[in-house]
Amino acid sequence: MADRRDFLKASLLGASAFALAGGANALAGSSDKSKAGARVVSTWDFGVAANQAAWSVLAKGGHALDAVEAGVMVPEADLKNHSVGRAGYPDRDGHVTLDASIMDADGSCGAVAALEHIAHPIQVARRVMERTPHVLLVGDGALQFALEQGFKKEELLTPESEQAWKEWLKNAHYQPSANSEVRDYGKTGMPGGKGNHDTIGMLAIDASGRLAGACTTSGMAWKLRGRVGDSPIIGAGLYVDGEVGAATSTGVGEEVIRNAGSFLVVELMRQGRSPQEACHEAVMRIVRKRPNASKDLQVGFLAMNHHGEVGAFAIQPGFSYAVCDAQRQDGLLASKSVF
Ligand code: ASP
Repeated sequence: MADRRDFLKASLLGASAFALAGGANALAGSSDKSKAGARVVSTWDFGVAANQAAWSVLAKGGHALDAVEAGVMVPEADLKNHSVGRAGYPDRDGHVTLDASIMDADGSCGAVAALEHIAHPIQVARRVMERTPHVLLVGDGALQFALEQGFKKEELLTPESEQAWKEWLKNAHYQPSANSEVRDYGKTGMPGGKGNHDTIGMLAIDASGRLAGACTTSGMAWKLRGRVGDSPIIGAGLYVDGEVGAATSTGVGEEVIRNAGSFLVVELMRQGRSPQEACHEAVMRIVRKRPNASKDLQVGFLAMNHHGEVGAFAIQPGFSYAVCDAQRQDGLLASKSVF
């Protein structure tokens, strides 16, 4: 915890420098699409490194879709990250099952859910989008498709994740907890005081003003076998409309699905709300429906409109998001929250 808090503090110092340099002002200021320039944003602290990979595509004038795919592959490959891709914590029965989605400005999209043994589910999601007439493939069928497409079958459960799962099995107490600075790790049965879920959601606008988004996760640690979260559900964990904007989410996926969260954020922007106002309202829909339950759960939304303006809002404190553009490549900001 202390480490995470210190890191956030240090990064936020960086974020104020970012604001002074005009970066944060530019986030809310520009209204001319052609002048907005390229920008990429993503969820949580690990978004900083992911954004840099996306930026290397955007800085060369590349397409937003290629940028978000390259970006989210960074946490998918990070062995220290136990909530995305390889080394993700497994389900209750010890299987690492991955959810991912990708969406382009014109409404093209692809997703995989409960996919096992493939290190980069985001690449499979893109193949579903580009090489099938479908949007979502799940489980064994998704794996079969991935293998047919030439992806390698691998063991994604690392010794460290297996050890954590075995520790959890001693009590086998399943209780997802909020990703926030105030979460009660003791209730989760998680070893080492770590939260048990997080997702990378990434949104980008390229130099031509094209939007795209990607979202990938191993979902809730120790989830029931077959559980699918919001991340691969288009309109829940991710939604992009090139004429309006894009949104993604993190946190307890069930709440996001119940409220069609990312679609709601984009529709609110269509009605004239800023990205910040839209994320705030989408969070409040969840809180108003379940005021008591909301005290213990985390949901965060991140949005970007077609001018490149950015907003974020969460139920709990502690939701960070990373911003990268021509002014600054390693910005990290703290989202406002209800509590
Ligand atoms: N939204 C993810 C899920 O429910 C988890 C997270 O972002 O923390 O699978």
